Amino acid sequence: MDSFHGFGLAAPLNAALAKLGYARPTPIQAQAIPPLMKGRDLVGIAQTGTGKTAAFALPILHRLVTDRRPAPRSGARVLVLSPTRELASQIAQSFRDLSDGLGLKIAVVFGGVPHGAQIRALQAGLDVLVATPGRLLDHLDAGVARLGAVEFLVLDEVDQMLDLGFIKPIRRIVRELPKRRQNLFFSATMPTDIRALAGELLHDPIEVSVTPAAKPADRVEHSVVLIEAAKKRDLLVELFNDSELTRVIVFTRTKHGADRVARALDEAGVNASAIHGNKSQGQRERALAAFRGGETRALVATDIAARGIDIDGVSHVVNFELPEVAEAYVHRIGRTARAGNAGQAISLCDHEERDLLRAIERLTRLNLPKTDRRGAAGPRPAPLVRKAASAAAPAPQPKRSFHAPHQARGGRPVASEPGHRPGFRTGPARLGREVKGRR
Ligand code: AMP
Repeated sequence: MDSFHGFGLAAPLNAALAKLGYARPTPIQAQAIPPLMKGRDLVGIAQTGTGKTAAFALPILHRLVTDRRPAPRSGARVLVLSPTRELASQIAQSFRDLSDGLGLKIAVVFGGVPHGAQIRALQAGLDVLVATPGRLLDHLDAGVARLGAVEFLVLDEVDQMLDLGFIKPIRRIVRELPKRRQNLFFSATMPTDIRALAGELLHDPIEVSVTPAAKPADRVEHSVVLIEAAKKRDLLVELFNDSELTRVIVFTRTKHGADRVARALDEAGVNASAIHGNKSQGQRERALAAFRGGETRALVATDIAARGIDIDGVSHVVNFELPEVAEAYVHRIGRTARAGNAGQAISLCDHEERDLLRAIERLTRLNLPKTDRRGAAGPRPAPLVRKAASAAAPAPQPKRSFHAPHQARGGRPVASEPGHRPGFRTGPARLGREVKGRR
């Protein structure tokens, strides 16, 4: 399908698509929209950045438009569950953009903000309710929300919802729904427990997958710098000397780590702000707006805070610390290389993180090129080591499925020998070029 017109979507939706500049369906849209228009349940294996939101929003909106009914009081015709408030807000915004001018009632419900406005929106009745499971459960328990009129249930980023411990709220919410409904289930990964949940909640689903699930990963240039933990902050500041790092998301493992890193960057003259679960909604929104608007060059985030954030033009993702769970690497790098652009991912890896790095390489089936900065003492370049590092770091093997266990793997990546490292200092620009040159 190389145009949206073949789907038979209601005319106002085609008009909205034209206005948004979506000329062609993305692969997940091409695969998912036709069965969804026929009323099928669907399991979609796709991550953020693939266009999955429009893949589920368009057929749902088509139904709302062609089968208009009053919005049910205290409830909604469509319930979308999302792991984070940022993602929930973005999904609601996509529904609004795609139904521009149609007067549908769309609201978001999530924690960390007062209940009042949400209660009023629910009481008035909604066409589309996008919610995080915890707060929706509060409203159910308080008798404010009733879900007996739900026609569509969308579970988005199910893997993340389960990581966040939302399984019980999800089951509880599903018990409130009518048996007859259309179910849409999206997850970036599909381990056994998630597949089992899909089997439990869905009826004869069609499965669509945009594997290699990590399409953006193919367009990302990956690099790893081996470095002592204590030197990471200086190295990070040094990376920012490269003017190519225009809009950078820096990932840390902890909230405090995010604050510390943002402070260190600020002190070094790099405008940065942190977002994580301890920040108020207002602080998060201001930080995101400043980053989107280019006032801050770096957004320092934890995995959960960054999940689902849709910001175009992120030039680099820097993993200040590697994630504990390899899948999170894929989610992190999905923040760059969006909408067809290229992007770079730089990971700072200390000795303790070598196992995490190996897990990432196993999952992505990539040999990530490495530069050894351990023991780096001064700015004097040492060509010997640079050569050693280049020779020892095989080019990544792009264009391979993340989920193709049968594919042979290239030789193990090797970093330069620890004992073999006079004061080599890779300038940040050089780091970028070095990686590019090798591919
Ligand atoms: P998603 O995976 O739903 O988060 O979408 C990622 C980005 O792609 C969003 O910024 C969408 O606005 C954009 N997008 C979705 N579908 C299309 C399309 N068919 N053509 C162009 N951009 C799209």
